[in-house]
Amino acid sequence: MVVIRGATTIPCDEKQEIQKAVKELLEQIESCNLLKKEEIVSIVFSSTSDIHSYYPAKAAREAGFGSCSLFSSMEPEIDGGLGLCIRVMLFVEKDMMPRHVYLRGAKVLRRDITSVYNVAIDGPAGSGKSTVARRLAADYNILYLDTGAMYRACAVKALEAKVNLEDETAIVDLMRSVKLDVEYENGIQKTLLDGENVSEKIRLPHVSMAASIVSKHPSVRMHMAEKQREIARKMSCVLDGRDIGTFVLPDADFKFYLTARPEVRAKRRYDELVAKGHEVDFEALKADILRRDIQDSTRAIAPLKQAEDAVLIDTSDMTVEEVVTLIKQKMQEKI
Ligand code: C5P
Repeated sequence: MVVIRGATTIPCDEKQEIQKAVKELLEQIESCNLLKKEEIVSIVFSSTSDIHSYYPAKAAREAGFGSCSLFSSMEPEIDGGLGLCIRVMLFVEKDMMPRHVYLRGAKVLRRDITSVYNVAIDGPAGSGKSTVARRLAADYNILYLDTGAMYRACAVKALEAKVNLEDETAIVDLMRSVKLDVEYENGIQKTLLDGENVSEKIRLPHVSMAASIVSKHPSVRMHMAEKQREIARKMSCVLDGRDIGTFVLPDADFKFYLTARPEVRAKRRYDELVAKGHEVDFEALKADILRRDIQDSTRAIAPLKQAEDAVLIDTSDMTVEEVVTLIKQKMQEKI
């Protein structure tokens, strides 16, 4: 069970204003936490003592949040406190990192947890992006979006449906017919295809190459980029990929481009796969990575390349800790 907090203000004590503000607040909490209504166990409101015209709980029921238990209460009058303010706590049955939402005048209450920012980390396979991105997201208590997993899921679907990977129209039709979801469990991304958890399957070596092929199709990229932008607009996150800083979020607040020598990158992938119990031929894996590098950096749309304003980091001789520290330092310098 997690608790999500939120607050908003109304311009005057009127029923319609309360209804509007409560609906807006709950819908934002719902969308930026990727919540389903059935996951909400209870919603508790409190409003400042200058609000008399309507119960926020009633407004919540009218806004479609009536299937859980709802409760409203009134706060004591506090000298100098923010007036005409509605606060909420949602008790949610889900393993997740809560994203709290403060709207309108209530933004001043929690500046520390409300402003949305995005960190873009691009680079080739094995450059250390995902490890570093995951660490940063955990340290800053924000979301980690592994965009490669989305292309990998697309590849899994195409392989299973035996669709020719070079056939752009067939791949896009397939993507439109499938439900691709990204969910979080204890802060770890799960990739779902039509409800099936494919998080393990997408990591198999043959899927890496297939992902590189399907991801070169412009319409596939547009489809994925839109999904990624939608998530990034709503909540602070670290996104790793190939084109985040150049194409998906050219306005990202912080941009990094990680790279490393090919042998080092191949060794990292090799160790990862061997640790998972896969049998891997190092030379074949290295050749695959190099082929993917070429394919990813020479495709016509949104190729793998460093954004002009991205900080370049060669991670070949650095530990994860060192890379994370350097990135945090660069972010601090920019703030
Ligand atoms: O990062 P990862 O190795 O999981 O990505 C798999 C493949 O998906 C990459 O080789 C690349 O072709 C594609 N990809 C992409 N754009 C992204 C992320 C991944 O084209 N933003």
